[in-house]
Amino acid sequence: MSLSKLLAALAAATVLSSPAFAQGYPERTITMVVPFSAGGPTDTVARLVSEKMSADLGQQIVVENVGGAGGTLGAGQVAVAEADGYTLLLHHIGMATSATLYRSLAYDPLTAFEYVGLVTDVPMVMVARKDFEPADFPAFIEYVKANKDTVSMANAGIGAASHLCGMLFQSAIETQFVTVPYKGTGPAMTDLLGGQVDFMCDQTTNTASQIEAGTIKAYATTTAERLALFPDLPTATESGLPTMEFGIWHGIYAPKGTPEDVTERLSKALQVALADPDVIKSMAELGTAPSTAEEATPAALKAKLESEIARWKPVIEAAGVYAD
Ligand code: ASP
Repeated sequence: MSLSKLLAALAAATVLSSPAFAQGYPERTITMVVPFSAGGPTDTVARLVSEKMSADLGQQIVVENVGGAGGTLGAGQVAVAEADGYTLLLHHIGMATSATLYRSLAYDPLTAFEYVGLVTDVPMVMVARKDFEPADFPAFIEYVKANKDTVSMANAGIGAASHLCGMLFQSAIETQFVTVPYKGTGPAMTDLLGGQVDFMCDQTTNTASQIEAGTIKAYATTTAERLALFPDLPTATESGLPTMEFGIWHGIYAPKGTPEDVTERLSKALQVALADPDVIKSMAELGTAPSTAEEATPAALKAKLESEIARWKPVIEAAGVYAD
């Protein structure tokens, strides 16, 4: 075969191999890494969505919890995983904040991943153990200020949503207090229920059922508007702390180099999952809603990550909070 014929044959084979790969995909079980403990808010979202994505893809998605270091351990694991579409990461806003919070991260959040799409944006609620004294949010703020050396706030490590909320709270009320890190707010909730820690700021995907059951006390939300689920709960903004207004957006990622037709296929499965009536209903009960079909795309997640890294960088630098 002449060199030109050989090159033409190779080019044709390359063109053919990519769609062929996607056509057969997925052929086996997919692992979705959640970078926090089982039973916590991120885990809840991942299990809800992955079950419906599995049905659309015709293959099982197994959730693997890799908690620790505010979500950076699990993200780091996926960053170096094989880029074949069989290892995914479901992470939240921490993907953006850890880019600035960590002085030396094993991966670059902006360049180590391919994007599948946005999943949901979850509100946060400041909650406390059931018998915590303050009656309302203004009293809570005063109490924390007056007892800063003895109160304790749980979080899921530097880079977690609960950590970001606590950092914003400390800055807003100009008070430093003790924080207790966990591998996820799932186990932190257990300690809050047991009274081992006093309060935490956590996603409604973990707090809603406990608030409804009256097993914890809720003080304020981080949302712009009051929550439909808890209309009596004030927002932090209406209580004079507007810098605490933010939501916990979640996205699904794949290791850098994962073929585009694979991430597109996964994005389609994500869109199907998010339009499922069961998912919509479950999310409403958890105080949240699915992202739209336009948001559940690689381009939308990429744009969100870029804008959120830029949004949080100056805030974190002003707070002066860093991890190594
Ligand atoms: N989302 C984390 C978890 O699932 C908690 C956090 O980010 O604060 O435990």
